[in-house]
Amino acid sequence: MKPYESAAFRHFFYWSDTIAMKKNKKKKTGNLNPMRCPYCGASVVFRSAEGIYRENSADTMLYVCSNYPECDAYVRVQKGTKKPVGTMADHKLRALRTEAHRHFDKLYKSGIMSKEEAYFWLANLISAPLSEAHIGYLGEYYCSMVIEESKKLFERKTASMRNKRKGDCA
Ligand SMILES: [Zn+2]
Repeated sequence: MKPYESAAFRHFFYWSDTIAMKKNKKKKTGNLNPMRCPYCGASVVFRSAEGIYRENSADTMLYVCSNYPECDAYVRVQKGTKKPVGTMADHKLRALRTEAHRHFDKLYKSGIMSKEEAYFWLANLISAPLSEAHIGYLGEYYCSMVIEESKKLFERKTASMRNKRKGDCA
């Protein structure tokens, strides 16, 4: 019997293969840009927002789907880093996130609650840990939920404040 025909030999090869694969995998996740476009599965390019943003005087950098502009999914990064501020989004989701942010921000910008309280409320609403309670991570379903619930909470809080004031005057 030749050595490569023995079970032990095959076994060795099998395991060395698996280890090599695992090592490879490790390497891949250590890469700064392991992202795939969640819409079309294409690779993602780290590039300037020039030509994508109407104007880019802030020199914003983005992760953009390599199929852009056919697929217009992208996400910007924190200035001076390669850290995305959320997950990649197409036009529709970006619009939804902007709207969700507008309604959510109103909760603390209006002074009916603190920013910290608002983020606790958001984390609870979407059942996420506080560190992941960011609208940039949300998909369409949760964005719609945040819009609806922020509106309701805003109405409730402002109504109870109005009633309280009325009570104070009486
Ligand atoms: Zn894409």
